Amino acid sequence: MVNIKCHREKIDVNSRLLILFPVLLLLSPFSFSAAADQSGACSAFVDVSVVPVDREQVLLHQTVLVRNGRIVEVAPVLDLKLPNDCHRIDGRHRYLIPGLVDSHIHLPLSGTADQLLVLQLLLANGITTGINMEGSPEIVALRDQIERGAIVAPKLYTTGPFIQQPAFMTADQVRNEVIAEKKAGYDFIKVHGELTQAAYDAVFETARAQGMRVVGHVPSNLGINAALGRQALIVHAEEFLYSYFQFHRDLPTDSAEIERMVSGISKKALLSGTWVSPTLSVFRQIIFQAADIDALLQRPEMRYMPRRLTTGAAVGATDFGWYPPDNPYVKRWPPEKIPHLRAQYFVMQRLVKGLQQAGVPLLAGTDPFVPCVIPGFSMKDELEQMYEAGLTPYQVLQTATSNAARFLGSDNDSGTILRGKIADLVLLNANPLIDVDNIFRQEGVMLRGLWFTEDELQTRLATAVSVSTASVHP
Ligand SMILES: [Zn+2]
Repeated sequence: MVNIKCHREKIDVNSRLLILFPVLLLLSPFSFSAAADQSGACSAFVDVSVVPVDREQVLLHQTVLVRNGRIVEVAPVLDLKLPNDCHRIDGRHRYLIPGLVDSHIHLPLSGTADQLLVLQLLLANGITTGINMEGSPEIVALRDQIERGAIVAPKLYTTGPFIQQPAFMTADQVRNEVIAEKKAGYDFIKVHGELTQAAYDAVFETARAQGMRVVGHVPSNLGINAALGRQALIVHAEEFLYSYFQFHRDLPTDSAEIERMVSGISKKALLSGTWVSPTLSVFRQIIFQAADIDALLQRPEMRYMPRRLTTGAAVGATDFGWYPPDNPYVKRWPPEKIPHLRAQYFVMQRLVKGLQQAGVPLLAGTDPFVPCVIPGFSMKDELEQMYEAGLTPYQVLQTATSNAARFLGSDNDSGTILRGKIADLVLLNANPLIDVDNIFRQEGVMLRGLWFTEDELQTRLATAVSVSTASVHP
């Protein structure tokens, strides 16, 4: 069985490098640093309900004081006198959660204007950190600019380019690549698709020596046991279909058998220490594309996706067009195949619930630029699908906040609302522990202490769309 999502043909990276830097200079006056004059200032969410996510609780009537980009105090509103210089944000009847992390994004490689649009889409949806799952030198440079504060945008991590066939067939090729990726400054090694046993072994041996973690797909020729305990993260629940549930056999359909298999692999996964990012919504969306592509292309949020970004070329995947006749899923999956895809999805849902029940840490990842997956907006779909699979709203919220910080090794700095943490925060007008959709009833987002109201986010988004649309591309 072939992985239904990720067949990608590469386009030339060098041709993109040429266009990036002139565009960057052109755009530097662009207002992505509009809120920079707040830096160093003091802000306070006053009388807010805090969902700290270090425990399942809502702390009522709190003041959260932020200075120099960090949370300096969380205390009952009556106990805390506001400093005079502090910008006051009304928290009454509102809920404060940590900024969200999308653990599986893809930034376009078609120039800075497009990258800034995607980053703005993330921010406007409460996402303050993203893990880019296919890196390039431009994205390392962008990550570093954000880190330095030259661009105000969600914090980035990035894997290197895919380690996959046919570019990487031998252990030697893999060794050289892992060493080169470490040198180039990537945060993770990404494996993708099938690999020979020798090449796959060489990934881990070299990555360990280089102090890097390996994330990605599971080579479906080798099976799930080859990956557990070695990959830090498996980036799709779908990988378990090909490397486990359907590994040298048909998809199980008997529900007792599915439950037995789920329970067995969940226990194994827990003991192995490997994390899972289910990316349920992208698979579900592929079923929708096969069923009714027009409905997806007519969603209101499609107005944020300039047509050029929907051809696949912008993310280096020429066979990833969104619109028919280029949409690969419409081509590949005639309506009579939909019941099979639904049966696969049912197994993935059972798996996600089983992994959660066993205690395997899960991450919310969305895989934008797979056709019809819109960056930022895709987070709402993913959190809804994890809830539908059987996680509680609190468990869902953890996958996008505290779990992600633990995975990234940044839990001293982020993922929860506690004194000393970086002030990446989202203000909501409804309780996220009652309904996961409330996570997207947003009043504003704070990014490293910079406060953006919902109106400001929408204005910035509209600007980013028009700059991207007007920008010149090769
Ligand atoms: Zn991906």
